[in-house]
Amino acid sequence: MKLLRTIAELRDALEPRRGGTIALVPTMGAFHAGHAALFRAARAESDVVVASLFVNPAQFSERADLNGYPRDETRDAAFAEAEGVDVLFVPSAEEMYPHGFQTWVDVERLGAGLEGAHRPGHFRGVATVCLKLFNIVQPQRAYFGQKDAQQVAVLARMIRDLDLELELRVVPTVRDADGLAFSSRNARLSPEERARALALPCALATKDAERARELLRDLDVDYVEVADFEPRVLVAAVRVGDTRLIDNVILEGDTE
Ligand code: AMP
Repeated sequence: MKLLRTIAELRDALEPRRGGTIALVPTMGAFHAGHAALFRAARAESDVVVASLFVNPAQFSERADLNGYPRDETRDAAFAEAEGVDVLFVPSAEEMYPHGFQTWVDVERLGAGLEGAHRPGHFRGVATVCLKLFNIVQPQRAYFGQKDAQQVAVLARMIRDLDLELELRVVPTVRDADGLAFSSRNARLSPEERARALALPCALATKDAERARELLRDLDVDYVEVADFEPRVLVAAVRVGDTRLIDNVILEGDTE
């Protein structure tokens, strides 16, 4: 596996591989079984698998959340290599947002509600960094998790609206044995907080917004809503101690 830090190096490395299919898996690192599912899905149908590891400052609305985000590049590089990633792109913030940067992508309505309402500017940061990665890597397919259902909806809309020539692949949410969806933020939960966090998957499993709200009444809830994405989902965001968790279940169409 090659670990590359600059856009120029990445373009040079991909140049001779453009005859085959290139897959892109954008991530913020602290890899877990959810990321592994994306890497495997990409590996299974591509000639070259590129993963990016970039804790994107533009998508964080709280500095403490950005600074406290788990980072372990050495472990992540070994993890990615073991999962068949060919190129791990690990740019600095200056590489992605050089001095003078001022061009942003705003998926207006889809990015405004739910996560967007609680994390102002979040989807502007997500859409912009993903468009940059799509332009740099020029993959035929990019892989995202159903765990972040609104992110998928926002990016699918951007791909349509800006006539991007890539396919978005959505990988089902991977859950731990106790039902909690894998998330890099789970590492921050104490055992007691983790036990309380289990109310989130239990509530969503009812597939009923009212019953879910009832089951979450002892947690600090940001929202529990049915979202009219494709497919329709019941989505929720809660805070357990200092950790904010999001999750969703599909209400129709494919089952998870
Ligand atoms: P992150 O590193 O948290 O930004 O996540 C990178 C990608 O992995 C995103 O497309 C997420 O939706 C996806 N992902 C995160 N957690 C899970 C999970 N538990 N199951 C499936 N995909 C996930």
